[in-house]
Amino acid sequence: MGTSSQAKSFNLAIVGGGISGLTLAISLQKHNIPLTVYESAAAFGEIGAGVGFQANFVRTMELISPRIKEGFLRCSNNVETEPPKWFDVRIGDTRKADGEGFVHEKDGRKLALGDPIFTILSRPGPRGGVHRAHFLDELVKILPPGIAQFKKKLVDVTEAAGGDAVLHFADGTTAQHTAVIGCDGIKARTREIVLGMEEARPKFSGKYAYRGIIPMQKAVEFLGDVEPRTPQMYCGYKGHVLTFPIANDTIFNVVTFSSRDEWTDPEWVVKTSREDMLADYADWTYKVKSIIANVKNPDIWAIFNHVPARTFYQSKPRICLLGDAAHASTPHQGSGAGMCIEDCYVLGELLGEITSADELEKAFRAYDAVRRPRALKQVETSREAGMLWDLEGPEGDDLKAFEKNAVSRMSWIWDHRIEDDLKRARKLLRA
Ligand SMILES: Cc1cc2nc3c(=O)[nH]c(=O)nc-3n(C[C@H](O)[C@H](O)[C@H](O)COP(=O)(O)OP(=O)(O)OC[C@H]3O[C@@H](n4cnc5c(N)ncnc54)[C@H](O)[C@@H]3O)c2cc1C
Repeated sequence: MGTSSQAKSFNLAIVGGGISGLTLAISLQKHNIPLTVYESAAAFGEIGAGVGFQANFVRTMELISPRIKEGFLRCSNNVETEPPKWFDVRIGDTRKADGEGFVHEKDGRKLALGDPIFTILSRPGPRGGVHRAHFLDELVKILPPGIAQFKKKLVDVTEAAGGDAVLHFADGTTAQHTAVIGCDGIKARTREIVLGMEEARPKFSGKYAYRGIIPMQKAVEFLGDVEPRTPQMYCGYKGHVLTFPIANDTIFNVVTFSSRDEWTDPEWVVKTSREDMLADYADWTYKVKSIIANVKNPDIWAIFNHVPARTFYQSKPRICLLGDAAHASTPHQGSGAGMCIEDCYVLGELLGEITSADELEKAFRAYDAVRRPRALKQVETSREAGMLWDLEGPEGDDLKAFEKNAVSRMSWIWDHRIEDDLKRARKLLRA
């Protein structure tokens, strides 16, 4: 086993330049691993919307490189409320209220529609929401220019004599590397190659989301100064609405979720109108409706996730899946991108320890053994969380049972020590 300062006799292709691909590139650069990022788009970019990272994920960013954390802090609003808060949970659906507008009785007090029912506490430390495009820009700044090739859409990977992987792109060109790390997202071509078309196929989760952003100043005008600046969750039947500040408190991010049995449109992101959005929330409170009414240019996102992968890697040719390519999740626990960061830390450190192509498979196996159970558990519990927030879980609309589940369900994600994962993976690598 080598050290990170030793020259590597392998070089890697990273397919996809999203949060996973770029974070992994930073992690591998630290260990002087030669690599090229192949991105299908003409430039790095993300669809404009927010993404939140809790304290454990920001700590993992720092373990990969303090510069990632610094970049995150520059573009996040870094909410450090005391006590630390994930969401205030409120009921936003008038159908849950009695004749007088009350939805729940707690500690001898009647709680009305729109009142905070309880708060889901998070964990201390820097955390918060970022605009995806801003965070991606920060990641790009850390990488040397020329590390990426654009308009390179991967269509296939074959094996060269000697075991290298040959990447075939839609423009007819090829590239040869010792191994491929598939960071190409939920519809990953690398996933199809490793798992086969059937197992790789994403599954509609039964939920779709409207996503939009509102300038914070505008949100403060109709919601007051306090609520828009802290994360809020409004729950109801077959839907919930999340709001949280991003981009140093300058943007009010809105995601509203609704349920339907199937999604038939081949496109997953489609333009919608405010009227369609409002129609889904006809029975909700005036406040929820005014949040929706103020969203400009809303998009509908069909929410798909992956069925559990039986493996995250293959050896002929060498391909390893990471981030959404390996375990795309619904967003209901706000942890999909966080899991990508964790993957990058573990795989990056393992690859930093080896020097030769022969050891790659062992590193992939150790990464797979440690990361797969945790990442797949996140996918499944996130789907369940979507049912909980939409009052469709086993708790239904029993708000006492709902609270009990909600305040404890994130502990295994947030209290996890990623260094312990790495320790286990290193042991496997050396075994
Ligand atoms: C509504 C919603 C809200 C979310 N909120 C949160 C949140 O609050 N917190 C959180 O942690 N996570 C959240 N997530 C999850 C998070 O967005 C994803 O887990 C994360 O962005 C995945 O990053 P990735 O780099 O693995 O994949 P992607 O972001 O999908 O990037 C894949 C990249 O690969 C490129 N690519 C694709 N195919 C090819 C190809 N064939 N050849 C070359 N390049 C290719 C793409 O152009 C893209 O740049 C949310 C997700 C959704 C849908």
